[in-house]
Amino acid sequence: MRAVVFEKFGEVPTIQTVPDPEPALGGVVIKVEATGLCRSDWHGWMGHDDGIRLPHVPGHELAGVVVAAGSQVTRWKTGERVTVPFAVGCGRCFECSSGNHQVCEHQTQPGFTAWGSFAEYVAIDHADTNLVRLPDEMEFATAASLGCRFVTSFRAIVDQGRVTPGEWVAVHGCGGVGLSAIMIASAIGANVIAIDLTDEKLDFASKIGAVATINAAKTPNVVKAVKQITNGGAHMSMDALGHPSTSFNSIANLRRRGRHVQVGLMLGDHARPQVPMDKVIAFELEILGSHGMQAYRYQAMMEMIRTGKLKPELLVGKRISLDEAPAALMAMGGFEGIGIGVVTKF
Ligand SMILES: [Zn+2]
Ligand SMILES: [Zn+2]
Repeated sequence: MRAVVFEKFGEVPTIQTVPDPEPALGGVVIKVEATGLCRSDWHGWMGHDDGIRLPHVPGHELAGVVVAAGSQVTRWKTGERVTVPFAVGCGRCFECSSGNHQVCEHQTQPGFTAWGSFAEYVAIDHADTNLVRLPDEMEFATAASLGCRFVTSFRAIVDQGRVTPGEWVAVHGCGGVGLSAIMIASAIGANVIAIDLTDEKLDFASKIGAVATINAAKTPNVVKAVKQITNGGAHMSMDALGHPSTSFNSIANLRRRGRHVQVGLMLGDHARPQVPMDKVIAFELEILGSHGMQAYRYQAMMEMIRTGKLKPELLVGKRISLDEAPAALMAMGGFEGIGIGVVTKF
């Protein structure tokens, strides 16, 4: 099969012909029909993820068709259209048994712990626990855009952030994660403030549901601005970018008993940011993480997509070919444009 391969961290990836994957006993092989471009792939390529063994094939936001299934797979057969969360649970550990596959102790991640989906085929472990069937009407490109950023935002807003109708939600950073969160929080009836450095992204945030926007490049005190708009602070706030300053602002702009959810990755020098712990205590703030979403929780999200409350297809950006993927991957270190880039030609 053809695949995007890098032999060394930070060196230009190339298109190579490599052996087709085989399914594990409980796993499947999926013919990739669409795979999203994500900043996590860029972090992996740069060597920021210690799970990666070289040479490596990146890619973890995928949708496609099952073409082979291991002998222990009972729920899936060839020809089925599927997607999969980026954190693949083992189905057997304590966390999986308690329904928290997204933090499985033995999780595998395509494109990190194993070869990923910037390729014609990808192998996925523990298929019975992790595959998600696609509705007939859903395009592969839309389905691929769900796997990482959209589901992480869904869990961050609904399950971790516990946002309820009428609450104020502040979303710091309007890339793929942030825009997904704005759409989801608006759909469940929250009042959403979008915060970013560019007016273009803020205009788009308003189109998909934000009731207020703050351009952080033109606002000397973002925390004060959020508190003014919300009459005292956000009930829930999210750092969708992953930067010490957005993380700090997201905690500092909360009202009493507010919830901060960290979704933007904090790696390298950013891994230990400052936290206003005085406020965390005095205001009884909650600080939460959010790491993907379990396959069984997709159903609620899929119903909101089916009824038109959520429109993830609006977040699909440029469609490119596998040949264009190496250059696009290397460019992910810069600021993202609007929408999630997706490889749709292999
Ligand atoms: Zn597990
Ligand atoms: Zn991703």
